[in-house]
Amino acid sequence: MKANVWAGRNRLEIEDVPDPRILNARDAIVRVTSTAICGSDLHLVDGYIPTVKKGDVLGHEFMGEVVEVGPGVRNLRAGDRVVVPFPIACGACFACEAELYSLCENSNPNAGMAEKLMGHSPAGIFGYSHMLGGFPGGQAEYARVPFADVGPIKIEDDLPDEKVLFLSDIFPTGFMGAEMCDIKPGQTIAIWGAGPVGQFAAASAFLLGADRVIVIDRFPYRLRRVQRTGAEVLNYEEVNVLDALRDMTGGRGPDACIDAVGMEAHHPTPAMYAYDRTKQAARLETERPYVLREAIMACRNGGVVSVIGVYGGFVDKFPMGTVMNRSLTIRTGQCHVQRYMEPLLDRIRAGEIDPSFVISHRMPLSEAPRGFELFKNKQDECNKVVLTP
Ligand SMILES: [Zn+2]
Ligand SMILES: [Zn+2]
Repeated sequence: MKANVWAGRNRLEIEDVPDPRILNARDAIVRVTSTAICGSDLHLVDGYIPTVKKGDVLGHEFMGEVVEVGPGVRNLRAGDRVVVPFPIACGACFACEAELYSLCENSNPNAGMAEKLMGHSPAGIFGYSHMLGGFPGGQAEYARVPFADVGPIKIEDDLPDEKVLFLSDIFPTGFMGAEMCDIKPGQTIAIWGAGPVGQFAAASAFLLGADRVIVIDRFPYRLRRVQRTGAEVLNYEEVNVLDALRDMTGGRGPDACIDAVGMEAHHPTPAMYAYDRTKQAARLETERPYVLREAIMACRNGGVVSVIGVYGGFVDKFPMGTVMNRSLTIRTGQCHVQRYMEPLLDRIRAGEIDPSFVISHRMPLSEAPRGFELFKNKQDECNKVVLTP
């Protein structure tokens, strides 16, 4: 089959790779009908997530048609249409029982590698490095889905791929980012990053009852897109974000702040950008946590900082003093997607949201490397690329 593979730092290629086969009783093979490029794929492509190898198939956002199931999968059969969540979860361990699916204790065969870096291992993830399981991803014609009796949800024929594909990651991720803010009526939520996850976080914050949502980015086309959710916007190249947020909230600060940017933040101040970029290039820190620092500084006393942007390792100049002295709560995690798929599918069915609003580009899988270029370089107002094998 054809697949989009990592061929070296900042190099992707469409290659012929072996078709996936059923390896375990609870596996299914899915013929991918739609797959997407994610912002977190960019951290893999440019080499900031360790343990990616030449020939690894990328992609963790995909859906398709079941073509084969192992003998342990009784709830799916060939011909079913499914969306596949990006964390792989067994459904029966301590973490899964607590609905913390991205922390499944049974789905990362390379847990030892992750333990060295993180202390304990999170779940395996499709197409997301060997440290997180080495599972071939969904930017391919077919994918093997482990624990297929737990993760994938069936989709009826009346809903097109584009309305449900993002249940695999970015809609639940944005939703969880908003949910972690414990939003009360009348509250103001600030979100850093107007990319697709930030757009879903903004839409979700309104669904959960936020009064105002303020989104911070520097690309006018992304800010225009997020304005469609009803959010107000700040361009950090035009205003001082901390001052602006203080002014917009009567001096108190937003009730909760969402970091939807993560480890490769861009800085408005050249000096701090140079500081983090240099330390990162020398591998003295792995992240550029500018947004995290600013979200912490901006948040009102006693508020919540919700981190859904991806971090991989270690940050520097982390303002723990303000977190402690101002009673801030930091909540974070890779999304426990399985927990959200059914309720969010219900919201799509009810017409509360149409997730296809994030799509800017559609192209065949064979053009995935070009799609990555457009997305990475923010060319052609690229917001979200959907690939069809
Ligand atoms: Zn993703
Ligand atoms: Zn589990």
